[in-house]
Amino acid sequence: MASYAKDPRCIAMAEAVVPLLRHACPEGAGGYDGSYQVNLDDEEAVGLGGVELIRAAMRKAARQLGWKVTTIGLIGTRFGTMVAVQDTREVPEEYRPVVDAAMERRMSAAVARVSGEHSEAPPPSPTSSSGLRTPRRGPRADLPSPAPNSTSCTAPSCAASSPPTWARSRKALRADIPFVQQRLNDWMDAPSRAEATDEQLRDAIIQAAAWLADPETYYTYVTPQAIEPGGLPAPVHTKPAPADSSCSLCAAPVAAGELIGRMPRPRQPFVAMAWLCAHCLFDRRAKPRLADVVLRVFHHAFSGSSTVPLNTAEVQVLSEALARVPAETANVQEACDALDQGIDGNAPVMLLSERLALAAVAALQAAEAATDAHGVTILTAVAEHLSQWGHDPQGLDKKDFADVVLWRQAVLANTEIPTVLSERGGPFWV
Ligand SMILES: [Zn+2]
Repeated sequence: MASYAKDPRCIAMAEAVVPLLRHACPEGAGGYDGSYQVNLDDEEAVGLGGVELIRAAMRKAARQLGWKVTTIGLIGTRFGTMVAVQDTREVPEEYRPVVDAAMERRMSAAVARVSGEHSEAPPPSPTSSSGLRTPRRGPRADLPSPAPNSTSCTAPSCAASSPPTWARSRKALRADIPFVQQRLNDWMDAPSRAEATDEQLRDAIIQAAAWLADPETYYTYVTPQAIEPGGLPAPVHTKPAPADSSCSLCAAPVAAGELIGRMPRPRQPFVAMAWLCAHCLFDRRAKPRLADVVLRVFHHAFSGSSTVPLNTAEVQVLSEALARVPAETANVQEACDALDQGIDGNAPVMLLSERLALAAVAALQAAEAATDAHGVTILTAVAEHLSQWGHDPQGLDKKDFADVVLWRQAVLANTEIPTVLSERGGPFWV
């Protein structure tokens, strides 16, 4: 592995980080128990020299302060690139009360802030008071994202060093307030406290109190779980639907009382989904319907990706549907061959090129291959929007948009005949 210690970028970064690390130690704790985390866009991290260089700079800075260091660097998390450093020295008994009190203060302040907003919150609007709301379109620009200089001990860094349980519990809530607040916003599905409804704030207060009572549950909540290739992350929040509504991803109807839930926050360019039906939460990848696979093609193409990752079950479903399409349809044979190769390859995930995925959807639509009403709705809408991105009937000039995703969002939002997909927006991390 390359050594970064003498790299001028690493040396400069370490110099800049030292005061931040010093500041990250609880006041009056003798410089013990510090931790620091940086979240960056993946591309931004590469621009700074890459995750290993940033990690080396953090290590270098921490050692200057006498820390016994553990670091972690994760690329491609739903927060982008995450680099964290933590002082693992045992806190001497004399500083322990200060350290514990500092942690308590931070978490209590987060709860108080949510509770305070609760009392000042405007009355809920009739359209947003139910737990199931029409998802917002477009990226949530107003959501406080983990700032590059946000400091927090992070559960991932705790996980990396695998400290004993008591240490994890003590450390788990040592998160900076904005970070805890953001978790709570995620939990209640509100872009900010000010925009949360009474019901959402009640959810958040109950949850914050539960995390305080049992910090281990917060640790579990914030630790990115390993996801099987082709599988799904666990929902961050589930509850019975408070009213009749529909799934934010697949648009299937959901009756009051049925289980709904929310997925972890995705990274850009994907936008957060609101409440999903139980099938989309747990089964859509392991037991996919044709509609799930078609939605997968839609959202990956939407995000600008040149490939669509499909697991074995999804390849099987798409392959079987294409078998019902006349073989002479353009590109269908090529798509079938690619899928067959995927099946033969026996890998948990194959990457189908966007070109063939789009051709497959167009062919399925032309052959009316969807067999149930829900499948027909989704397939028709997906085929329509994919084709709009191909010829742009609204005449929106791509050059007026910062990137292709924003342009596609605009084309989708301005579609002449709204569909279940244009009502939902995207792209979603499916
Ligand atoms: Zn669904």
